[in-house]
Amino acid sequence: MSKKLIQIGMDDIDSPGGGCTTHFASILVEKFDEMGVQWTDYPNLIRLNPGIPYRTRGNGAVALRFETDQNRIESIISMIERLLHDYVEQEYQNTNPGVVILEGEMPSKVPVFSQLALWRIVPIAFAKRIIQAFNITHLTTGNGRGLIGALAAVGNTLHEDHTYEYIGYRALENCHDHRGVDVESVQKMDEDLRDCVFSNVDTVTGRVIIEPHGPDPVLFGVRGESAECVIEAGKRIRTRQPVDRWMVFRSNQGTGEHLKHQVEIKHLRPYMAAIVSGIVSSRPKMIEGGHVIFSIADEEKWNIDCAAYEPSGEFREVVLELVIGDRINVHASVRPASRTHGLTLNLEGLEIKELAKTFKISNPICPECGKRMKSAGSMKGYKCVKCGHRNLEIQKIMTPITRDLHLGLYLPPERAQRHLTKPLVRVGKNNLGSLRTPVNIWHN
Ligand SMILES: [Zn+2]
Repeated sequence: MSKKLIQIGMDDIDSPGGGCTTHFASILVEKFDEMGVQWTDYPNLIRLNPGIPYRTRGNGAVALRFETDQNRIESIISMIERLLHDYVEQEYQNTNPGVVILEGEMPSKVPVFSQLALWRIVPIAFAKRIIQAFNITHLTTGNGRGLIGALAAVGNTLHEDHTYEYIGYRALENCHDHRGVDVESVQKMDEDLRDCVFSNVDTVTGRVIIEPHGPDPVLFGVRGESAECVIEAGKRIRTRQPVDRWMVFRSNQGTGEHLKHQVEIKHLRPYMAAIVSGIVSSRPKMIEGGHVIFSIADEEKWNIDCAAYEPSGEFREVVLELVIGDRINVHASVRPASRTHGLTLNLEGLEIKELAKTFKISNPICPECGKRMKSAGSMKGYKCVKCGHRNLEIQKIMTPITRDLHLGLYLPPERAQRHLTKPLVRVGKNNLGSLRTPVNIWHN
């Protein structure tokens, strides 16, 4: 019997009332395991353009990839259909799940679509056109929005930098109670495994950020550089609610995969994730609500507002140190214009390329007696009040001010970062070409 590669993408199998795409994926994995499929990769957890407003809780899309006997495919599809129906039905109604099932080779349009979904807004109609053109098996209900993420996930094979996440789940019947993740166990784990885990504890506040706060089945998720490492890390976390099941995902989280495009101000469109170069053209100021606003201009004199919002915490102190003339690259998602503001760059990061020279300007010192002089009036030079010396040639003193900023990258604290943001501890790390064949035990 000939083997066939099956790749399944899924998204939006979640709702404000409970349930989540990765949890559904873990149920599918268990069923496929019972059928004896050969996994060719870990489940992939794919994060998409984080600037898009209607994504429920930043829940990622998932892709499963395995080989199976040709004659099993029919029963696999009908099983997914049945499980999806049961899973979504016992949950919230207003959800728009999407599942795509690819057999054999992937049409080249799919990875292209995937790349676009990382940094642009892609309409449902575009996803549906590709699905139709290549006759891709798909399941959906509602408005079909989940098909966007499903197609984007299946098309992203994570052949560049990638990371891992261990997700521990609680039983669905426990979803409306407190998780009780033990803070000390997380901090201890983070300290012991520092070299291979990231973004689990906020550096400045010490706050644990592995625990979601909604009513979903995710108990906690630990992010790291290898499957072995996150499994070890996950086992060290203590929780009041028991871990009902767990699974390791390979992911684009923490890779900065959404921020690869340098876009000129005039080409920016709402909801783009982009890197924008410019010179600070208005001094940053804090407005009501604690947001910090400034603007940048480019060489063609195009201008755009930039905002570091209140939740970005101490990152705003960095932004407030900028002065007119600083040359920067802004990492941002583009917020659409509204009645009160134009197109705005919502800051996710800040690269300082060149600091403007700034000076403290003061009156000259009297050459006769050393006292500070005063202006003698417009065009009349300076005079000394102590000894009466007058001087027409003497100039104001320009003292360079040392800036508190350094060249390079600044990011908001971990607690305010996007899932996709490449955190400072990962800068320079690149898991290219690391082993993808799953380790012996990667879910339970
Ligand atoms: Zn004097």
